[in-house]
Amino acid sequence: MNFTIKKVAILGSGVMGSRIACHFANIGVQVLLLDIEPNQLTDIEIAKGLKLTDKLVKNRIVNEALASAIKSNPSPLYLSAFAQNISTGNFSDDMPLINEVDWIIEVVVENLQIKKQIFESVEKYRKDGTLISSNTSGIPIHLMSEGRSEDFQAHFCGTHFFNPPRYLKLLEIIPTQKTKQGVIDYLLNYGSLFLGKTTVLCKDSPAFIANRIGVYAIMEILHAVKKLGLTLEEVDKLTGSIIGHPKSATFRTGDVVGLDTLIKVANNLVNDAKNDEAIHLFELPDFLEKINENKWFGDKSGQGFYKKTKNEKGETEILSLDLNTFEYTPQKKAKFATLEATKPIENLSKRLPILYNGKDVAGEFYRITFDGLFNYVSKRIPEIADDLYKIDAAVCAGFGWDLGPFEMWDALGIQSIITHMESTGQKPANWVYEMLHAGINSFYKIENGVKKYYDIQSKSYVKIPGSDQQILLNIVRTNKVWANSGTTLIDLGDGILNLEFHTKMNTMGGEVIQGILKSIEIAEKDFRGLVIANEGVNFSAGANLAMLLMFAIEQEWEEIDVMVRSFQKAISRARFSSIPVITAPHGLTLGGGCELNLHADAVVAAAETYIGLVEVGVGLIPGGGGTKEMTLRASDAYEEGDIELNTIKNAYLNIAMGKVATSAHEAMAMNIFRKTDRISMNQSLQIAHAKSRALELADAGYTQPKIRNDIKVQGRTALSMFLIGAHSMHRGNYISEHDKKISEKLAWIMCGGDLSMPQKVSEQYLLDLEREAFLSLCGEKKTLERIQHMLKTGKPLRN
Ligand code: NAD
Repeated sequence: MNFTIKKVAILGSGVMGSRIACHFANIGVQVLLLDIEPNQLTDIEIAKGLKLTDKLVKNRIVNEALASAIKSNPSPLYLSAFAQNISTGNFSDDMPLINEVDWIIEVVVENLQIKKQIFESVEKYRKDGTLISSNTSGIPIHLMSEGRSEDFQAHFCGTHFFNPPRYLKLLEIIPTQKTKQGVIDYLLNYGSLFLGKTTVLCKDSPAFIANRIGVYAIMEILHAVKKLGLTLEEVDKLTGSIIGHPKSATFRTGDVVGLDTLIKVANNLVNDAKNDEAIHLFELPDFLEKINENKWFGDKSGQGFYKKTKNEKGETEILSLDLNTFEYTPQKKAKFATLEATKPIENLSKRLPILYNGKDVAGEFYRITFDGLFNYVSKRIPEIADDLYKIDAAVCAGFGWDLGPFEMWDALGIQSIITHMESTGQKPANWVYEMLHAGINSFYKIENGVKKYYDIQSKSYVKIPGSDQQILLNIVRTNKVWANSGTTLIDLGDGILNLEFHTKMNTMGGEVIQGILKSIEIAEKDFRGLVIANEGVNFSAGANLAMLLMFAIEQEWEEIDVMVRSFQKAISRARFSSIPVITAPHGLTLGGGCELNLHADAVVAAAETYIGLVEVGVGLIPGGGGTKEMTLRASDAYEEGDIELNTIKNAYLNIAMGKVATSAHEAMAMNIFRKTDRISMNQSLQIAHAKSRALELADAGYTQPKIRNDIKVQGRTALSMFLIGAHSMHRGNYISEHDKKISEKLAWIMCGGDLSMPQKVSEQYLLDLEREAFLSLCGEKKTLERIQHMLKTGKPLRN
C-alpha cells in the first residue's frame, strides 16, 4: 500500500499535540495544527476591542500552545526556523482543510466522548484513503472508531507517541481488527525511517506495551520500598545507571515526568486490566495516595518525592521525602556492598548476576523486583504482544532502559531465575518451561551477525524484523581486525572497516590517536573505506585533558608540542588518505570529537547530535585543526560582493562562545556539517547508513583531496574588529580577562595573524598558528584552573 506524507493535521495542541506537530515540522512535513476556540475574552483582548469571532481570538489557544512548546526546553524543534512548517487554526473554521492532508492525528484530551465527537467531525471532511490515528494513552482503540465509515476504520489505528515526542524513541502502533494490513506496515516503516522512532506493533490491550510493563516495574518497586525499609536515595541508587536505566532512576524520574501521570496510568490499569493476576500491584501504596491527596506531583508542582529548597547559606538543596514521617529531610548518601563489588564491571550483562546474587538488602531488592518483573512479562504474552522482543523494544525505547526484561533475564540465566522464583512460590508462564524442556536456554541468540528471538508459535529462533537493515557493533564486534585499550577496528564487510572508541566518555587520548592512525593505515592497505562510529552514549566528549594537565603542570612544553602535533596529524589523516573516511557522530561530540568530524570526507550524523568547538571552556582554542577548518570554511563561503567580515565573524563567535549545536540541523546551519553531509533520523540505522555512504564514495572512484593553499584570511581589518569586540565585551563585564585573552588569540589565528591586508594562506600556516596559541594558553594559570575544574566537576569554570 502506497502512501506519501507531505502534510499532516494534528488535532489538539496541548502538551503532546504541539510537540508532535514540531516533530513533523522537523522532518520537513507541512503541519496543520488545530484546537478548540476560547469561549471567553481575556482582559487584554477586551482592552484591544477584540471580539470572540475575531480570528486572532479564535486561534488564541492553538497559537499560545504552539508558542509555549517552541519556547520550552529542551526544544521540540531541531531548528527554530522549522516552525514555519506549521500553520494553525481552530476546529470550527478550519476543519475543512483536513481534506488536503495525508495523515490526521487526534491528540485531544483523554476522553472517549470528546474524541468520538472529533472523529465525527473529521469524517465530514476527510477524503477517503487518508491515514487517521489517535495518540490516546489508554482508551481502547476500537471504541474510538465505532460508528465511523468502513474507509475510516480501515485507515484508523492508535499511534502512541511518548513525551517529549522529539526525544523519546518509542512509537506504539495499535491497530484494530479493522485496520488494513497495508496501513499498519506503512506506519511501522514510516515511523522508523522518517520519524526516527522504534516502532512497535501493539495489541489493543490496557495501556498497550510500554506503559503496562514500565508502570508495573515502577509500582512493584514502590511496593518493595516499604517492605525492605529503603529510602528514596537508596532506591534511586539501586535503580539507575547501575541496572542500565536512566540516571534519574525511579523517584527522580517520577518527579520529572509528573506523578499525576503515573497515578493516572496505574489507576486506569486497576479499572481496565481486571484479569491481570498482578492487579494489586497497580494499587497505590499509602504514601502515593497521600502524595496524590497533597497534589505533590513533582517538579511541575514544586515538590514530589524530592523538594528543592534553599539552606541557611542560601544554597540550593534538594531534600527527599521520608516515607515514614512524610517530612522532607536532607539526603543521605546511599551505599551498598553489592554495588561496590560491581564498580569495575562496565558490561551490564556481566554486572546483573552480581547484583542479583548480592548478600545484602540490595541483592534482596533485586531478587524481589527482577523475579516479579520477569514473571509478569512472561504472562503478558500473548495478551499484550505475541513476540517477546516487542516487549523489550517498547520498554527500552519508552523508558530508556539499556536492556529489556527478557534480555536481562537472559543475562541472569533463565533457569537460575526460575529456581529462585520457585523457591518463593512463583512460576513464570508455561511457554518458558516448554522452551527450556525443548533444550532452548535463551530468549535471544545471534546467528551470522543477525539477532534472533525465540518465537513461541513456531518454537524456534526467528530474525527480529528490520534487524538486517541495521549494523550493531555489539553484534559484529566479533569481526575484530585490530584493537588497543581505547579503540577496536571491526570489519563491517564489503571492504568497509569501523573504528570504535571505548574510552571513558569516548575521550580522545593517545590510544584513540593511535587507533585513528592505525585504522587508516590498515584501511589504505586492504580495504575500501573507514567509518568512525560507536554505540556509546556520546560520540566523544573531546580530547583527554588529564595528560595535558599533567604536562602543563610539569611545564613539559615539548611534550605538549608533540601531543598537539600528533593530534593534528591524526585528524588531518581523516581527510588526507587514499580511502574515504566517514564519521557517524551522535550525542555529545565536543572539542576534538568535533574536529575529527570536521575533517571527515563525509558525515552521517544522528539527528540528535550536540556538536561544537568548546575549548574556550577549558581555557584553550581548538588546536586539532578546528580553528583552521572553520577559517577555511568561512573562506570557501565568501561570495563575490559579500560582506566577508560577517562570515568570518560568525565562525569566530561560535568558537569564542563555545557554542554547541543542539541538533544535527543546527550544526549544518553553523557550518560544522556541510550541505553534502547526511542526517540519519533513526540512530539504530546510522552505522548502516555510514557504511553505505563509504561504499558510495569508494564506488564513485574516491580520490584523496589536495592540501589547500588558497584560504583567504582577512588580516588586520578583521583582527581590529575582533579585538575591539573582545575589549568592549570585557569592559561591559560580559567576559572575563582570561576569556578576552583567549578570544584575542583565536582572532589572531582566524585572521591569519597581523597581515596588513587580506591574503591567501595554507592549511599548514593556520595549523602552526593554532599550535602556537594552544601552547601559550597551556602556560596560563587560569587555563590550568579551568582544566582542573572540568576534570573534577565535568563543568566549565569561568574565571
Ligand atoms: P493536554 O491537556 O495538554 O491537551 C489536551 C488538548 O485537548 C488541548 O489542546 C485542549 O485544548 C484540547 N481539548 C480540551 N477540551 C477539548 C474538547 N472538548 N474538544 C476538543 N479538544 C479539546 O493533553 P496532552 O497531554 O497533550 O494529551 C493529549 C492526548 O495524548 C491524550 O489522549 C493523552 O492521553 C495522550 N498522551 C499524553 C502524554 C503525556 O505525557 N502528556 C503521552 C502520551 C499520550
